[in-house]
Amino acid sequence: MSTTDALLQNNRRYAATFDQSGKPMPPARNVAILTCMDARLHPERFLGLEIGDAHVIRNAGGRASDDVLRSLIISSQLLGTREYLVIHHSDCGMLTLSNDEVHNKLAAETGADASDIDFLPFSDLEESVRDDVRRIRQSPFIPANIPVTGYIYDVDTGALTPVDGAAV
Ligand SMILES: [Zn+2]
Repeated sequence: MSTTDALLQNNRRYAATFDQSGKPMPPARNVAILTCMDARLHPERFLGLEIGDAHVIRNAGGRASDDVLRSLIISSQLLGTREYLVIHHSDCGMLTLSNDEVHNKLAAETGADASDIDFLPFSDLEESVRDDVRRIRQSPFIPANIPVTGYIYDVDTGALTPVDGAAV
């Protein structure tokens, strides 16, 4: 059985006892979380979130890319979220690479030029959190009264630690 088949089988079991219908679209806890796609992070569990509670936006590194800003603008302006958390994590894969390395690898493996893609790697975990908090804050389309705070999640302990200077 492929992984896809196994997942579809899991979903049939899930849907058979699903009892969360009828929830409103706006997040009940009025919060949006930006974090990394890393498979070791389970933000709903480590933050105690239930279905319907929060917007959780994930990408490689948990970076505040243009598309994340798009989602956060929708989140606040159309769906009423009023607090944002940015969560990066220990042992992140984005700490281990550079744009040049990825560009060269892609050129070698695909023959296509990816040099205009910024993969948003970083070398300093706390600085990347501060950069992304600042980038969200600087969007003119995100209300200034929304607190944006930044944290590092430890993949070995499950604990979140606030990042100094990452609260605006
Ligand atoms: Zn990561």
